[in-house]
Amino acid sequence: MKNIIFIAPPASGKGTQSAILEKKYNLIHISTGNLLRQESLKDSELGRYISEVLASGGLVKNEITYDIVYKRLKESDCQNGYVLDGYPRNIDQAYDYDKILKELNQVLGYVIVLDIKEETLEKRVTGRRICENCKAVYNINSETEKPKVESICDKCGGRLYQRNDDNVTSFKHRYNLYLEKTKPLLDYYQEKGILYVINGDDTIANIANNIDKIIKEGM
Ligand code: AMP
Repeated sequence: MKNIIFIAPPASGKGTQSAILEKKYNLIHISTGNLLRQESLKDSELGRYISEVLASGGLVKNEITYDIVYKRLKESDCQNGYVLDGYPRNIDQAYDYDKILKELNQVLGYVIVLDIKEETLEKRVTGRRICENCKAVYNINSETEKPKVESICDKCGGRLYQRNDDNVTSFKHRYNLYLEKTKPLLDYYQEKGILYVINGDDTIANIANNIDKIIKEGM
């Protein structure tokens, strides 16, 4: 199975779609946001630096993301295919990722872009809740995506929390960074012939079906 990356703005549903792909195709889901959040909990200089950057909505330094991604993709469970969500996020990271692929003898098959309106994202970001335990994602602003019982995960009974960067101010900063730094990557991958743009303003099921079609065609 060829590897997949998502290029999409904050709160566009890339984590949700990655989790669906993980199950459907038996891929490993790697979220750089989750890896960095884990690292930020450590009582170390690096942990404190990452924690500050995450809260501000900025981007963690490229050298740090390179090390974290390289280390994770080198692990044996990644050798049969993975979905990488949140990396690369700027052109230097795209060059870094090319180096990682070459070094680890891995192939990037699909770059999936979720195209979505800013107002939809802002609504999602303020309603997003995540399970502390299994990381399932809910949205309290949506009738179809909210948990059955308030603050409790439907899947595992874990407690739901709100990310501290899921507020309007941090969102605007993250969204502007996406437009400025990440969106230019679309041209980079378009030229490589592996870019697929999907309407992200659709239901979770329809988006998943559209991604499925692209992957099945490429198999
Ligand atoms: P996400 O969970 O993808 O929304 O990422 C949450 C936060 O983690 C981002 O706002 C950044 O601060 C940081 N982050 C995630 N991926 C990267 C990356 N590739 N480069 C730099 N910072 C990142």
